[in-house]
Amino acid sequence: MDISRKMDYVDQRKGTFDTTTIHEERSTMKKPTYHKFTTEPFQRFDDRNSGFSRFQREQIAKIQDLKYEQKPSVSSTAKIQKGDPSEIGEKKGFGKKDYALSWGGRTVDYLIRANLYTRDLDIDENKIDVSDSSSVTRQVKSAALWYGANLAGICEVNPAWIYSHWGDYNAFYSGGLAKAGESIEIPSWLKYCVVLIVGMDYEDIMRSPAIDASTSKAYAKMAFVATSLATYIRQLGYHAMPSGNDYAINIPLAIDAGLGEMGRNGLLITDKYGPRVRISKVFTNLPLEADEPVDLGVQAFCEECKLCAYKCPSGAIMNGKRTDKAYDESNNMYMKKWPIKAMKCMHWWEKNKSHCSNCIRVCPFNKPPGTIHTMARKVIKTTAMLDKFLIKLDEVSGYGKQVIK
Ligand code: SF4
Ligand code: SF4
Repeated sequence: MDISRKMDYVDQRKGTFDTTTIHEERSTMKKPTYHKFTTEPFQRFDDRNSGFSRFQREQIAKIQDLKYEQKPSVSSTAKIQKGDPSEIGEKKGFGKKDYALSWGGRTVDYLIRANLYTRDLDIDENKIDVSDSSSVTRQVKSAALWYGANLAGICEVNPAWIYSHWGDYNAFYSGGLAKAGESIEIPSWLKYCVVLIVGMDYEDIMRSPAIDASTSKAYAKMAFVATSLATYIRQLGYHAMPSGNDYAINIPLAIDAGLGEMGRNGLLITDKYGPRVRISKVFTNLPLEADEPVDLGVQAFCEECKLCAYKCPSGAIMNGKRTDKAYDESNNMYMKKWPIKAMKCMHWWEKNKSHCSNCIRVCPFNKPPGTIHTMARKVIKTTAMLDKFLIKLDEVSGYGKQVIK
């Protein structure tokens, strides 16, 4: 493949996609901000302890008379996202068309999970010249943006972020690739991770906790981008394994790749989209230059702002001080943070008959593009002195309220 031609093609289209990660000046640092709060060396997390896996097991356990293997069609979270036909249409924002739009958005995602995610397929036998790793890095990022990512960053892989075992939910959708409880061996070639960010539609997220279809659509986009980029890298002669929410924890990888920080809500907060993003990734041995982590001022801001905790319908987000004590087995600790009560969240989704995005909707970092919002982000990055004022301003301006158009 002629990469330079591809690069020209991408450059000619500047402005048609976001090139923030490549070109924008950011306040970078040598170590991610979570290092300030780390209390013990990180250990690999068992995906069977994630909220999704636990909820899946809980739902299956309710069907006492059949074994797990006999119930291949049981997917509780999928059922929630599809909606219960007996209740459709009762509440505003939960109509048949709302469910249909959302479920349609998911189609490609589930196909890719079952066929392409977490697979390292054949690579081209002719490797490209990688002596100029800076140039190769730029081309990989440009390709990622061209395939549809809104942001792309690169980190060297910290093995602590790779799950120790397959979880129930991710194994269920893996197309028979893995079973829940199987251990995950890290291949020797796995060195770099290209982390890919897909932004979700602002107006659609403001509907939460009514159905927002853009979450589903973003899952499909992240699957398309990650698998396309993996094929691109394999064509350059290097290993590449695309992944969605399986195989490794996305948020610390994204932080290490300079794409944002983790907020009180347990989500990645990016500079441009706040927490209104989905993350996928490609692991590779193509020699790349890692990005430096960023300090967006999120840590100090979240100490003051507790909007996500106050507006979480299930009480899953802590409004107190950081702690290094886990709430339960779903928390990956070793640092002081605000542990999320994952099962409270899952049970609310079940009651709500849909997933929920309130902790994205109300976050002051979730803003549509605009000069004033860009200025506010710059102020937060530079000083914590105005945080209280900006939080108040956000509330009185009416941002974060549910809007169903
Ligand atoms: S998704 Fe909803 S219920 Fe879950 S933590 Fe966020 S706001 Fe709370
Ligand atoms: S809503 Fe406030 S406290 Fe919660 S993550 Fe966003 S900035 Fe942090």
